[in-house]
Amino acid sequence: MHEQGSLARARDVIAAFIRSCDRIVIFTGAGISTEAGVPDFRTPGSPWLVHKPIPFQDYIASEEARIEAWRRKFAMDDIYRHLGPGTTHQFIAAGVASGQVSAVVTQNIDNLHQRSGIPEDRIIELHGNGSYARCMSCEGRHEIETIRAHFEHHGYPPACDACGGIVKSATISFGQKMPTDALRRARDAMTCADGVIVLGSSLVVRPAADLPIMAVEAGARLLIVNREKTPLDSAAECVIRGDLPATLPEFWPLTDMDASVTGP
Ligand code: NAD
Repeated sequence: MHEQGSLARARDVIAAFIRSCDRIVIFTGAGISTEAGVPDFRTPGSPWLVHKPIPFQDYIASEEARIEAWRRKFAMDDIYRHLGPGTTHQFIAAGVASGQVSAVVTQNIDNLHQRSGIPEDRIIELHGNGSYARCMSCEGRHEIETIRAHFEHHGYPPACDACGGIVKSATISFGQKMPTDALRRARDAMTCADGVIVLGSSLVVRPAADLPIMAVEAGARLLIVNREKTPLDSAAECVIRGDLPATLPEFWPLTDMDASVTGP
């Protein structure tokens, strides 16, 4: 593991890492969205802790819990849903557009990778997406605005209009099974990568945090950029402890000279 000190040196290290890889997977956490105004989870006083998500089993078991879950979700939506992607999202989107970043594996639920222009088939959401809801029985999609209008009028959320099932935000709650397809796609992407870049994650939420290790075991090199230490730092070739928007270089699109370095 090699930790980088000065900002200029850190930017050089990131650019060199990118240049030396052909197939990069970027793994993102809540820290990439803080510059856009979306609070992360672990910073003290986080509104996510004030409006703490309700565990899955409680949500399924009780209507009272579902009412409280939607009340907390709408409070959080008021804080962040109007916000757009920041420069870190744009850095990642440029990497995908260049063809060098094959997939973005994210723990985020804020829909900002989609809003930065990354095609849906390049985004792998491990913890779902909070910009819509799904029926827990028939899996039909429901729009948050419709649910909110019903909630504000009646004081409780609507049942699924197709089958009467329980409707839930399309995020993965504590205690809920991880989406099998997303996990399979993430494992495939990680094991095919020759470089993995982790951006803005405390890497303490599992099984998501196991994925970069899986990539290293399959032969990929690992670069971590985060403000704080993470449990995976010792497995990384390079760790940069800094503020993401200040640290990430403007790298993509590649110049002709860069392209000849990364080409086959
Ligand atoms: P986390 O809150 O545990 O960790 C975020 C990390 O990013 C922290 O170590 C923090 O120091 C760092 N960070 C914050 N701003 C930064 C910046 N500008 N530059 C560099 N580093 C910065 O987030 P996590 O690891 O993603 O795990 C939290 C869980 O909560 C995930 O499951 C996620 O689904 C959920 N969550 C999502 C969002 C979102 O979608 N934006 C927000 C909060 C929580």
